[in-house]
Amino acid sequence: MNSGERRARLVVGNWKMNGNRAANAQLLSALRAAGPFPAGVAVCVPAPYIGEVASALHGSAIAWGAQDCSSHASGAFTGEVAAAMLAEFGCRYVIVGHSERRALHGEGDALVAEKAAQVLAAGMTPIVCVGETLAEREAGTTGAVVSRQLGAAIERLGDAIGDVVVAYEPVWAIGTGKTAGPAEAEAVHAQLRGQLAALNPRAAAVSILYGGSVKPDNAAALFGQSNIDGGLIGGASLNAEHFAAICKASA
Ligand code: PEP
Repeated sequence: MNSGERRARLVVGNWKMNGNRAANAQLLSALRAAGPFPAGVAVCVPAPYIGEVASALHGSAIAWGAQDCSSHASGAFTGEVAAAMLAEFGCRYVIVGHSERRALHGEGDALVAEKAAQVLAAGMTPIVCVGETLAEREAGTTGAVVSRQLGAAIERLGDAIGDVVVAYEPVWAIGTGKTAGPAEAEAVHAQLRGQLAALNPRAAAVSILYGGSVKPDNAAALFGQSNIDGGLIGGASLNAEHFAAICKASA
């Protein structure tokens, strides 16, 4: 995409550690029936379900992906899943650096950047999550925090930063029912856009998604902001009707 082209609009569901085979089948069939959608749509699902999700979505416009991967290509890393393994199952996206991984698994900026590099090397698109905690917001350091987090990915990936998707997810808004107001979110997106645009036109055209308690009733206002290109949706992505409504709000 060059700077003159429209940025890709995308809505991604993050199922987190939820679901079971029967519920997944129902959810995906309802989602397929609810399409077509005006933007790209994807679901990032727990690793054991990826094969079945791929079969359920085969032939549809809905893409699928994973929620994490190893920072290593292969080897003695018990319990880890390599990016290349996810690619074998047709994953298009892999979320890296979700705040739950940063907070609960101690993942730092350099590790997240390394995971993004692995995803790209395997031919998929990393969704690089950034976002401040409530304490960081209250301390007035939101801008510095997200700039540092994105900066680590830029430093590791170089020009390939133009091939990622960024997700701004204020940690205090995830799963809490509190959403950043559209203007509040837009201010951070505009800063991230500026950081990317300073690199080159391709980086300027990276899609930046907003995540954090997006619901059918607030999606359109958020997605209407000029630097918000779609959403990363947690809780609401588990309900086909709600997720479809959010996807339709991305026009
Ligand atoms: C998320 O998990 O990425 C997320 C945004 O969750 P929720 O929509 O539930 O706040």
